[in-house]
Amino acid sequence: MNTLIDTLFQNWTPQTGDKIFMTTGDGATFTRNAFQHQMNQLGHALLAQGVQPGDRVAVQVEKSPQAFALYCAVVKIGAVFLPLNTGYTISELDYFIGDAEPSVVVADPADATNLSAQINRPEISFLTLDENGTGSLMDMANAQPTNLDPAPRGEDDLAAILYTSGTTGRSKGAMLSHKNLLSNAEMLREYWAFTEDDILLHALPIYHTHGLFVAGNIMTLVGGSMIFLPKFDTDTMITMLPKATTMMGVPTFYTRLLADSRLNKDLTKDMRLFISGSAPLLAETHIDFETRTGHRILERYGMTETNMNTSNPYDGERKAGTVGFPLPGVSIRVMGSENQAELPAGEIGIIEVKGDNVTSGYWRNPEKTAESFTPNGYFITGDMGMIDDSGYITIVGRDKDLIISGGLNIYPKEVEDAINDIDGINESAVIGVAHPDFGEAVVAVIVLENTAAGQALEDKAIMAILKDQLAKFKQPKAIKFVEALPRNTMGKVQKAEMRKTYADLFST
Ligand code: AMP
Repeated sequence: MNTLIDTLFQNWTPQTGDKIFMTTGDGATFTRNAFQHQMNQLGHALLAQGVQPGDRVAVQVEKSPQAFALYCAVVKIGAVFLPLNTGYTISELDYFIGDAEPSVVVADPADATNLSAQINRPEISFLTLDENGTGSLMDMANAQPTNLDPAPRGEDDLAAILYTSGTTGRSKGAMLSHKNLLSNAEMLREYWAFTEDDILLHALPIYHTHGLFVAGNIMTLVGGSMIFLPKFDTDTMITMLPKATTMMGVPTFYTRLLADSRLNKDLTKDMRLFISGSAPLLAETHIDFETRTGHRILERYGMTETNMNTSNPYDGERKAGTVGFPLPGVSIRVMGSENQAELPAGEIGIIEVKGDNVTSGYWRNPEKTAESFTPNGYFITGDMGMIDDSGYITIVGRDKDLIISGGLNIYPKEVEDAINDIDGINESAVIGVAHPDFGEAVVAVIVLENTAAGQALEDKAIMAILKDQLAKFKQPKAIKFVEALPRNTMGKVQKAEMRKTYADLFST
């Protein structure tokens, strides 16, 4: 038994082999049979390269149906899939490859020669796969048989290692077992009511947990269908929305769709579910999206190390600005940082998580693993949040983003919410910057709306409004206006980068 693969494909009977599993932006389709043949041929090609169960296969390629088939192939032969962000540079890759010691690296043909020369590890086979699904790996695969017996793998065997984005220090490889991935996919299928009739609009990258596991595993498990786009492009999304029933996105997908006048109720009338995660969805975006489309976005919260932890309900109130309830089988508590005691409803502390979804730890990093778990097995997420009286969880930010000014704690989200409510402000990010008197001072980085109200706003006017909203110690000591907040591909605001930008703001 191969725990993950056997279960993901359990409903793909030979009678349903012609059902379409994936459609690309240019209309090419992959039936279940075609996908499985591709997966099996890729599996054979890797076996022919000498890949053994437990070996890592590192993959830095553009998104394509073949790249998703490669993930399934790696797990099917019992190896460990290691996807890498396509934005990583050679020196970053050198670190990941040195740490993970893969037996095979699959890269884009444009990078592969340079990569294998610079990385210079003769024990590794470098193969290629491009965005059209061609390359040396596929050349080998095409000559292989289309049937493949899965390698036996148990619940606790590793299926994947995903490196965290790591805002401080080197990124760490979260080890994800067959059970971690499968338990989450099976539970989310029920929770979000996915069936084989669903067509998921998939524009997320597949080197990240959201696009690869949340989207990919669920759709494989239910045997639904995916419109598999290389990236988010508003025009393509607008064209594809009427053909889909569900979409998973990061908040920027929603703000970009909202910025397009073609987004309306008619365009989205056949959709049954919009899901958002990976970064905070502003309550305002949630409300605007409902006004325009009639759909209430379902926000959920997860991370690389834990898969999905919480979700707003499918049936029931989806509360804007919250990430909903702990998912079935996931135990969540909010802990005080000082006395390590569980906090009551309404109090902000560190979120800890326990369940089959949670990693067993970081690859070859026992120190970080030990630091990340409590003695009774809770994973310390590093996210700060609170649970309200009705059980809804709100994330207020990473603990590293907490600002301590004059000895007092300031949660950036509270300040950001007050700023975002001001007429003419599009969005904001609040950070702590070193200050000679206060230790840290609150700095607000603001994106104005491109409207008359926005263009007329000045920092003094903003400060005057905030004076009535926030205690003095929470009010920004400086306001900076920018065209856009720095975000990564998952839509996360890069606060560490912003802190560097403004590091010397108050230095004398
Ligand atoms: P990653 O490991 O890249 O998936 O990042 C995980 C982190 O993203 C979490 O620890 C949170 O800080 C953040 N995150 C994910 N989903 C949400 C959400 N719905 N709201 C706020 N933050 C989120």
